[in-house]
Amino acid sequence: MAKDYYKVLGVEKHATPEEIKSAFRRLAHQYHTDKSTGDATKFKEINEAYQVLSDKDKRAQYDQYGQTFEQAQSQGGFGGFEGFRDWSNYAQAGGFNAQDIGDIFGNLGDMFGMGGGRRGRAAAAARGRDLETTVTVDFTTMVMGGTVELNIQRDVACDQCKGTGAKGGTALKTCGDCGGNGQRATTRQTMFGVFQSVGVCPTCRGTGKIIETKCDHCRGRGTESKKEDLRVEVPPGIDDGMTLRLKGKGEAVQNGTTGDLFIHVRVRPHHIIKRIPETADLVTSLTVNVAEAALGTTKTIDAIEEKLDVEVPAGIGSGQRLRVKGKGIQTNRGRGDLYVQVTVETPKRLSRNAKRLLEELQKEL
Ligand SMILES: [Zn+2]
Ligand SMILES: [Zn+2]
Repeated sequence: MAKDYYKVLGVEKHATPEEIKSAFRRLAHQYHTDKSTGDATKFKEINEAYQVLSDKDKRAQYDQYGQTFEQAQSQGGFGGFEGFRDWSNYAQAGGFNAQDIGDIFGNLGDMFGMGGGRRGRAAAAARGRDLETTVTVDFTTMVMGGTVELNIQRDVACDQCKGTGAKGGTALKTCGDCGGNGQRATTRQTMFGVFQSVGVCPTCRGTGKIIETKCDHCRGRGTESKKEDLRVEVPPGIDDGMTLRLKGKGEAVQNGTTGDLFIHVRVRPHHIIKRIPETADLVTSLTVNVAEAALGTTKTIDAIEEKLDVEVPAGIGSGQRLRVKGKGIQTNRGRGDLYVQVTVETPKRLSRNAKRLLEELQKEL
């Protein structure tokens, strides 16, 4: 049989949203498993009821059909309603998603000061901010690899106190407020009563130590902002849009790990050479005239950092590719190849003499 959600919450059928809410709070408080009066099954029931009755549309459906649309869907139509079998089924059936459940418990967890995980978080070491920047490298750097110079403004460990924040070698003393463990219990008055939770000690910010005499240079922060020149290796074959990560070149933070520097790389296109995607090969284009295509020729082309003479064999067709070995992108197994894509250009305007010669040629072919 369908549960009567109004009975579950102990409210009248015409209860106002405020009455439903306050009934839910009172019962959730009473049956929460952290309490001596706790009852997991009851607690679930109360939540189920509240999920439906606190939602205007779901409540209207429930009033009309004795269940909501989602419940009906999950059970194959109106009529067979048996109530929720269990919490996880309800989530899977789409009554509300797992995220909502997490939120409900998460929020209650907060209210009740539950959650052992919180303690772990409090003690977790600080981490400095990551930084990001964009560099544009030329096509040759992409092909051969190279370096780029960057000037980055970032927080680094203070030179004077070596990042401790304490004046020239003065000792750190144990934090009196937390006894050195970096955590402090706080007591909170909530609508369910008084609860205790453990958080980061505000006095020592979780480090367990306090500085007796602060470093003059960084005023105890342990870090200072500095402009820094960096030489960054750019590996050959890097694609436009790739990101390099430099560990420990982000912002430093006192008593924590320095963040990373992310370098987004743009590759400036070459005026004629392109990369064949996902390979170590390059392709360039070359135009020859009809006679050159028929008779063969030698052409000088632009390659990476050099000019190359390319033999165009007699009889080459438009669209054919010639391969120049070892003139592509540097890899750890040597360089890829450079392909020369040949286009045979047919003359559009002919001199009288050229026309005559072609007519002669035509008789020969
Ligand atoms: Zn402390
Ligand atoms: Zn300092």
